[in-house]
Parts: sequence; C-alpha cells; structure tokens
Amino acid sequence: MLSAASMSGCKTAEDSGESSVRGEPIIDIHQHVGYSGRANDVLFEHQGTMGITRTVLLPAGRPVLSASTHDGVSNGLQAKCLGNEACYRFAKEHPGSYLFGANEVPDLEEAVKELEKYLKLGAVVIGEQKFGIECDSPAMQKIYKLATDYRVPILMHWQYRMYNYGFERFYKMLEKYPKTKFIGHAQTWWAHIDKNYQDDTSNLYPKGGVTPGGITDRYLSDYPNMYGDLSAGSGLNALTRDEEHARAFLDRNQDKLIYGSDCNDLVGSIPGCQGAETIAVLRRLAPSKAIERKLLYGNAKRVFRL
Ligand SMILES: [Zn+2]
Ligand SMILES: [Zn+2]
Repeated sequence: MLSAASMSGCKTAEDSGESSVRGEPIIDIHQHVGYSGRANDVLFEHQGTMGITRTVLLPAGRPVLSASTHDGVSNGLQAKCLGNEACYRFAKEHPGSYLFGANEVPDLEEAVKELEKYLKLGAVVIGEQKFGIECDSPAMQKIYKLATDYRVPILMHWQYRMYNYGFERFYKMLEKYPKTKFIGHAQTWWAHIDKNYQDDTSNLYPKGGVTPGGITDRYLSDYPNMYGDLSAGSGLNALTRDEEHARAFLDRNQDKLIYGSDCNDLVGSIPGCQGAETIAVLRRLAPSKAIERKLLYGNAKRVFRL
C-alpha cells in the first residue's frame, strides 16, 4: 500500500518550512471539496488564510436513494460535498499540503471495494461516515475491519436518529475492534461530553455548564482507540459553553482530540469562519503550549500516520 506521502514524492509543507503566520504547522483533518458549492480555488485560499499547512479532504459517498441516505437527503453529506474522485484529484494537484479520505455509502454491496480502491491510492482515513445506519450493523463492522487492515482511522458523524444509530452501545464496537481507531464528530458526540445531557431529540447544541463523565467523556478516557474531532459548530460549542470545563477536558484528553474545521465559509478568518474561531479558542484554552501543539498538529500526525 502506498502512503500519501510516498505518492506525492514531495516535501511536505512542514518539511519545507512553509507554515501559518505564526510559523507553526496546523493539520486540519476535516474539510470537503465542493462544500455547499464552494469552488476549489476558494477552498484553497480559505485553508491558507486559516493558516493550515495540511488538509485532509473527506469525500461523500456516491449519490443513492436508500434508507441509509434518507432517500437521498444525505447525499453529498447533506452539503453538496463531492466524492472520492474529486478529493483524490484535489490532493494530487496539491501534493504535500492536501490528503484525501475514502468513503462510500456503507450498506452498498460494492462499499468495501470502492473504499479499498482509494485506500490503495493512499487515502489516510475512512469517512466522513454520515449515514442512517446502526453503528453495529454488519455493513459498518466490515468497514471497521477494513480500517484495521489498512491502518487508517474511521471518522463518524454522530447525530441522533439521523446518522450512526446507537451511540450508547458503541462501546461494544470499541471493544470488538480494539485496533481500529475511531474518531467521533458532530452534535450527538459533543453533546454527550456532559453527564447530565438528556435531550437527544431537540437540543443538539446544548449550552451552559458541563458535568464531566458523559458518554463521550467516558469513551475517550476508557478506550485507547477512541478519538475526538474538534471540528464544526458542535466541537466549538463544546469548548465555549463552559470554558473552565473545556480547559480540564483538553488537559485530560490532550492525546485524543484532533483539530478539524469543517466550515463552508469563503473567508477563512474571523469573523465568519468557524474553523478559524476554533483555532483561536484552542490557543486560548489549551492548558499549555505543548498541549496546544498536540491538538493542532501532533495528534493528527500520529493518528493519521502523516
Ligand atoms: Zn464534515
Ligand atoms: Zn472557515
């Protein structure tokens, strides 16, 4: 299997000393090509403005009408995101600074074959898995196994009764596939940092004080193969809703949390860019410079084997 680095045959942005304004490399593990219709040159500029030195592009699955895509509602990851070939090509055009994932609608018969095609081309992650399917279904378990075989993490969008069902019993998968690195993302994942979180149905962006010990907090602390993707409004909200909690949370999960942007704006700076805001918040709340660097760079490098 070729790694993305050997595929590119080039020096990486970090190696060549190219970096953000502060002279520090940042890896963004969560962006999309064609996101809400955004043009490729605008995506490229956006990432540069944010100070990102390496970006992982997460493809959508192919467009299909099925229960797992809610009859097509979640095609394009519900945001016009493009698929494997578009992400692969974008990464090939920007060797060193862009990497790509492999994705597919998990319950299609050809899912594993399609994922393997791009894993063999150097995909560094499986995802973004954002489909209406049970997290312990046979189809998903095949993909967890594939992630182990190719030594790539799998990134899952958790959203109650919409994407990846059965969050409360997901620990069974963490135990059954101990060599698979799982990365949690999105509303239900982040809402459950709070032990007192109850309202799964209507309140996907809970505010206010957080009591440690929620399902997410326990998965992160109890399972070495569980990681968290800090991207999107849900990740940012989890940090800003209770900053005192966030400092301690970042401290105790300093080797488990990974920066991603997942923003679809055109600007790449504050105001208007949630990815840039998340970087600013992490720099403010990280308990030390060393932890900040893990969150913005080191953890991604290690978990994605970059
Ligand atoms: Zn996304
Ligand atoms: Zn942005």
